[in-house]
Amino acid sequence: MKVTDRWGVRPRTQTLTFLPRTLITDLSMRLFLQFILLVISCNQLLAATPPNVVIIYADDLGWGDLGCYGHPNIRTPNLDRMAAEGMRFTEFYSAAEVCTPSRAALMTGRYPIRNGMCHDQFRVLRNNAKGGLPKDEVTLAELLKGRGYATGMVGKWHLGHLPEHLPPQHGFDFYFGMPFSNDMMPAPDAPKGRERFFAENNAYWRTPLIRGTNVVEAHPDQRQLTRRYTDESVKFIREHKRRPFFLYVAHSFPHVPLFASEKFYGKSPAGLYGDVVEEIDWSVGELMATLRRERLAEKTLVIFSSDNGPWLAYNHHGGSAGPLREGKGSTWEGGMRVPGIAWWPGRIKPSVQRQMATTMDIFPTVAKLAGAKLPERTLDGVDIAPLLFGSGTVDREAFFYYRGATLYAARLGPWKAHFITRSGYGPDKPAPQDPPLLFHLGEDLGENWNRAAQQPEVIAKIKDAVARHRAALQPAPTQLAETIAQP
Ligand code: MG
Repeated sequence: MKVTDRWGVRPRTQTLTFLPRTLITDLSMRLFLQFILLVISCNQLLAATPPNVVIIYADDLGWGDLGCYGHPNIRTPNLDRMAAEGMRFTEFYSAAEVCTPSRAALMTGRYPIRNGMCHDQFRVLRNNAKGGLPKDEVTLAELLKGRGYATGMVGKWHLGHLPEHLPPQHGFDFYFGMPFSNDMMPAPDAPKGRERFFAENNAYWRTPLIRGTNVVEAHPDQRQLTRRYTDESVKFIREHKRRPFFLYVAHSFPHVPLFASEKFYGKSPAGLYGDVVEEIDWSVGELMATLRRERLAEKTLVIFSSDNGPWLAYNHHGGSAGPLREGKGSTWEGGMRVPGIAWWPGRIKPSVQRQMATTMDIFPTVAKLAGAKLPERTLDGVDIAPLLFGSGTVDREAFFYYRGATLYAARLGPWKAHFITRSGYGPDKPAPQDPPLLFHLGEDLGENWNRAAQQPEVIAKIKDAVARHRAALQPAPTQLAETIAQP
């Protein structure tokens, strides 16, 4: 009787009549087992190999400004694809409501109150600031450099513009970009006030470009900024593809004044703001294409986010926080809840993540992936690997919303209590709230319906969490107040 499988086809091994059947079966099984072991050890090796890390940080991009977050007119196919292939967070937070403190928190995993990178009046480092991120802070770049990573930064730093504060002093081997915001050095003969911002005239702006610690261009053409940041980033990836690398790309836009290159200018249905965001989306696409082309996609964690919400004070040159209340500068959700997308093919499954995460979580999460020992100090971020890789939840007690050096609000689970309220850039003064305003962010995303009267026990729990946070906190002297002579 012929040996056939259940479809009546003779197995291929039956043709090898010169070898005994038992030996063939034995050999096949051994080869199969060896193959399985090889696959397992390759996977283990891949999992143990520190991944490359790319952080792409937009400036003043609102929660509602991307197609994948529901914007109807701004076309962002590359970020939409990144979200579809990776994890899109619906509750991703910056640790601050404006640029400098937000960036300090991203780099250190700590609330800016712990290192003096915040101030109630000045809010960000000005172009005549003497201070910067304190040298004894450990940045993510320093941590990864210690693990053998090549470290590069392209774009807006805003953690101190004097040579002793620039990225090369904080763990970055490579730096090309602007030391602070693109509006911080207007030309002396430019019109005053908002007219200057809406003029779309590059000659009105003088924020320099720096390479390493040297100014290489005093009056760069901001229309070419996004393209040039992209070119430098692609070059960095290509040059360091053979070792683990950390690349931090901090776009200067869509912070005002808005500029886009010729290829994007006047093209978006959403006007100049749309042009600018669509060019950033193009830039993300170029970086992703480079990672794929260089066969780095499965070895690279890419995170996209924004430093704070949209700058609503700039009308049609500001973005949108979608259904969230207020924008940049405020501790309402629109000021601090931002887009957050994580991408790592083969490791992060395509999904929408509805548990909260913050930019401060990146520090401990990446440290663990890189096998780096955490510095001995209080970290406010938590390891979100269980969220990214689908193995569980994270242990986070509360999230605190600071405006400058003052705690304005706190979130515990879905509940958020506002102890002080104030618009981001309006003329209103801080308004203390006692009892605090209380909102359920699941049921009331726009923070419209105060539930304090019905939920005194929730308020008590939030007050306890704030008290514990304050009891353990040692605020550092501010870095934002002292100035040098006018540049
Ligand atoms: Mg900003």
